[in-house]
Amino acid sequence: MTGSVYPSKDFVDLQTKMVGIAQHSGRDHGDEEVTVNGEKKRLCNDFFTITCDVHENMGGQLAKYGIGQGVKAVPTHVIILPDKTEVFRYVGAMGVKQIKDHIEEAQKRLGKGMSHAEWVKARDGLDKAQKDFEAGSTHAAIDGLKWVDGAKNQTPLVERAKKLLDEIDAKGAEQLTTAKTLADAGNADEASKALNAIAKDYAGRPVEKDARKILSSLKTTKN
Ligand SMILES: [Zn+2]
Repeated sequence: MTGSVYPSKDFVDLQTKMVGIAQHSGRDHGDEEVTVNGEKKRLCNDFFTITCDVHENMGGQLAKYGIGQGVKAVPTHVIILPDKTEVFRYVGAMGVKQIKDHIEEAQKRLGKGMSHAEWVKARDGLDKAQKDFEAGSTHAAIDGLKWVDGAKNQTPLVERAKKLLDEIDAKGAEQLTTAKTLADAGNADEASKALNAIAKDYAGRPVEKDARKILSSLKTTKN
């Protein structure tokens, strides 16, 4: 496969539909010095465009996707979706046509997916939400993360967005505890000020409801 499939134009063209990751322990196949853009480097004789260090050290990346386990023979081909669903595993050599068919099958299961432009937009939006949150613009950050609830696939981008939402919710919970302490101490004015701020900043998040609940109980107590 390393001689005929991987360097073929058809296989290279397939890389627009997938991210190909090669992992191989050992470097007995050797490498060769080549000049790329005027720069001399040693590239792998088996995987051509990478150094042997790259394919030897790729195990950690694969472990993240749960692919490393159960590989007993070389070559093993695994196709997974961005949400880590394994759709295909084959031990042995394959032709480009066979690989292409399986990639197309995986694409069907993946659904429409995201175009590169959509992905860049989502990533930039996520970066902005992170910055907004760090700058204290909690409401803007939550606004920028509204799409997460409708996300169907558990992609790394969605995971990052969910982690950020968790951080936002944790901060809201912390502020709620402070406001509760004020209320319990009988400091109703300060408590209601803090609770109103939470309800406004965290609109749409669960903590907004909690804040409003305490606010209405404060009012009841006053009357
Ligand atoms: Zn190599």
